[in-house]
Parts: sequence; structure tokens; C-alpha cells
Amino acid sequence: MQNGIFVPEEEIKRQLAIAREVRSLIGEGKKVFVSTFGCQQNEADSERLLGLASLMGYTKAESIDDAQLIIFNTCAIREHAELKALSKAGALRKIKERDKSVITAVCGCMAEQPHRREQILKSYPYIDIIFGTDRLHTLPETVKNAILGEKHGVYISGGSHDEFGTVAEGVPSLRESSYKAWVPIMYGCNNFCSYCVVPYVRGRERSRKSKDVLAEIEGLVKSGYKDITLLGQNVNSYDGDLSFPKLLEKAAGFEGDYLLRFMTSHPKDATRELVDVMASSPKIAPHFHLPMQSGDNRILKMMNRRYTVEQYMEKAAYIREKLPDAALTSDIICGFPTETEEEFENTLKAVDAVGFDMLFAFVYSPRPGTPAAKMEQIPHEVKTARFARLSELENKRASELNRRFAGRTLKVLSDGCENGIYTGRTGHNKIITFALPEGFPEEKAKSGRFLNVRVDGVQAYTLSGTAEKEQI
Ligand code: SF4
Repeated sequence: MQNGIFVPEEEIKRQLAIAREVRSLIGEGKKVFVSTFGCQQNEADSERLLGLASLMGYTKAESIDDAQLIIFNTCAIREHAELKALSKAGALRKIKERDKSVITAVCGCMAEQPHRREQILKSYPYIDIIFGTDRLHTLPETVKNAILGEKHGVYISGGSHDEFGTVAEGVPSLRESSYKAWVPIMYGCNNFCSYCVVPYVRGRERSRKSKDVLAEIEGLVKSGYKDITLLGQNVNSYDGDLSFPKLLEKAAGFEGDYLLRFMTSHPKDATRELVDVMASSPKIAPHFHLPMQSGDNRILKMMNRRYTVEQYMEKAAYIREKLPDAALTSDIICGFPTETEEEFENTLKAVDAVGFDMLFAFVYSPRPGTPAAKMEQIPHEVKTARFARLSELENKRASELNRRFAGRTLKVLSDGCENGIYTGRTGHNKIITFALPEGFPEEKAKSGRFLNVRVDGVQAYTLSGTAEKEQI
């Protein structure tokens, strides 16, 4: 599977050459607007779309109304995300009526779903291009074709799900931040959790080569990036000629002051070796996101998660043993099909027992084409009531856990000052607001700088404090 998934270098060169052709076709002063929905992978993809658009001569537009190339990079994880994207796409009609030469595109996970593609083609005739998640590198060609008059170009890989998916190296990125960066290490997923659409819209797991990942990280560190997140649907399945723990270990080995994060880990594959590597390096953020999804074994089985609550607890205990101060965060789905009251209460018990710094709780949303969508659904009001109970419990547990930071001095990466308030993020991935003591040079607290902050206020999920004069 790994071989044959890499887009040939010649193809990337061909696309980059087409980008230069587009530059001469569109002339000066054209702008691009990319609207991103969904996860960090989409944010990383959008940065590559912007990189390609920039090669084509487009500069970034401040607003959609200023743009001559508009791209909606969509998400399909929940129905709500799709409806939001579709409603925004509806606003493109007016833009097209005003100026027919504006090129409009929809890409990302929603575009991979046949029923949504049909809907877009039928009901959104002013969308010029639809392209799939593994065709991102072909943006120059799709835009060129649209400029030359192609109507409704659809660029989807097709084929069976076992074949679908590529890795394209050498596509430039225009990063949003000068100090935080996403680095995808793999794409797709093989797990087929019964509620999840990702394997259908992002294809099979395929990993970048470790040398490419490490070269990118080294380049980022040398350019001054301080907060680097390795991305994959299940990073523990990374298979690019090194295991994920080994890759992480090497990624933490460059000279410089930076912090490495990663997401997401599937509990069935999160190994002790990974926890040991995390514990061995101060450059790896003390934060573990380990999605539990449910605290009941029957529901976990229905979800096809392939671990038990007991196994999850054992992994969480090992993290606590090796990294007692680390932040542990998780995802929970409330109201999975057929979930009984008792089963939901098992989830509450498990959440209470582990103690999460943050929980991303979701009301179950059926995704067409997934096995769970065909299971017996439970009423919406039951799902939302469970969500509310879980949120209440989590607010209490998170507040308790956050107290461990009171009075401590934490290393914080500043996100700068807005409306007189400085904010930053700790290694535990906590947002912290902070004040500067008198005489503290503002320069030292500007975005992208690490500084020590003494915590003097603790809220459920956030912290507040004062920068210390003695800095790192
Ligand atoms: S591990 Fe499961 S939930 Fe995560 S992307 Fe894969 S199929 Fe979806």
C-alpha cells in the first residue's frame, strides 16, 4: 500500500509549471480567499492551497468580496459542519452574478461524498470546481481549466476505498502563523469506526517518508517556529519507515527551543513506548489527547473501536504514572445509537474516574454511508440531555484538575496582545491570559516568544497570571 501512493515528482513539477502559466493568464492584483471548515488537517490543507494559489499569482484577500478565487475547504464529520459550508456556499451566487470571472471551488471531505457532489452540481451551478481530498495538488490545473471556460470541473480520484489516497510532497505551504505550524505525517484512516466518515472521504492510511517529515520539522525550527503539531487521523499507525515513537523522538532532537505536539492517538494503538518517549523529552508537550468515545464496552464494540474501557483505563494509568502532570484530553460521543441510560452512566463514571483536563463532547450525528447511521437511533432530546449532563460533570472535573497549576510558574508561548490582554498557551495546551509587570519589555511578550508566567488565577479550562521578570 505504501508504494505507489506517492504522487510522482514530475506530476508535482507539472502542476507548479501550470501555476506559473495561470500567473500569466490572470495578470496582476488578483486575490484568493480560502474558507476552512473542520479539523487541523483541513487547516494544513488550506495552507497548501494558499501556497499553490500564491504561486499562481494570487495574494490573500481580507474578505471574500475582494477575491477572484474563492475556495471552500469543507468538513464532513458532522451534519452541522456540512450545512454551514453549504449555506456559506449559497452566498457565492451573488458574487458570481456580480462578476462571472470569479472562480469558485469546493474541496475537502464534503466534496468526497457522492450525494453532496450531486447536490452541489444540481443546486449550486455557480460552483466552478469540485475536487477531492487527495487532488489538492492539482489546484493549478483545475483553476487553469476553469479560467479557460470549463464548467463544473469535478476532480475526484474515484476507485475503491482501498485504492484511494495519495501523498504529494513538494507542494508549497503559505502558513497562517510565523511560529505555530501543522505538519501532516500521514493521511487517511483504516479503522472504520462505525460512526465515522473519515475512511470514506480521506482514503486509506498512507504515511509520508520520515526523511521528508523530519526535514520539514528541521526547516521549521530553523525558521523560528516554536509550536509544531504532527498531524494524522491516528498518528500511532504512522508507517513511514520508522514507528511513530521513533519519529517523535527524532523530531524532538533538533537544536532550538520549540515544542512538539501530536494528534490524534487511537487508544488501541497508543503504546507505552510512545508515553516513554514523551516523558524523555522536554520538547514534547505534556499533553495527550486520547479519544475514549464511550465508557461502555458494548457501545465501544458497536463503535468498532477495538479496545475495552479496562484497556483504556490501563493506558490512562500508564500516562499518569510516567507523566503525572500531563494534561489528558478526550472525545466522547453522547447518544450513540442504542445507547441505554445505564451505558451512558458508565461513560459518566469512566470520565469521572480518569479526570480529563478537557473533553470534546459531541451529540451523535449520523453520517450517511456509515454503519452507525443504519442502527437504531435514539431521540435527539435524549442525546442533548446526556450531552448536558456530561458537560456539567466535565466542568467540575476540569476545574478541580486545573487547580494544580495555581501558584506555579509555567512556560508559555505568547500569542501576543489584543485589546490590552496578552494571551498564550502552555505546554499542557491551556490558554492563559497574563499581565506584564511594570518595566517588563513588551518586545519580550510579543507573539511567538516563550516566557515564564506565574499562575495567579484558575478557571475551569483557562488560566491567568503575570509574566515573571526573570525570563527564559
Ligand atoms: S480512528 Fe475512527 S474516529 Fe478516528 S478517523 Fe479513523 S475511523 Fe474516524
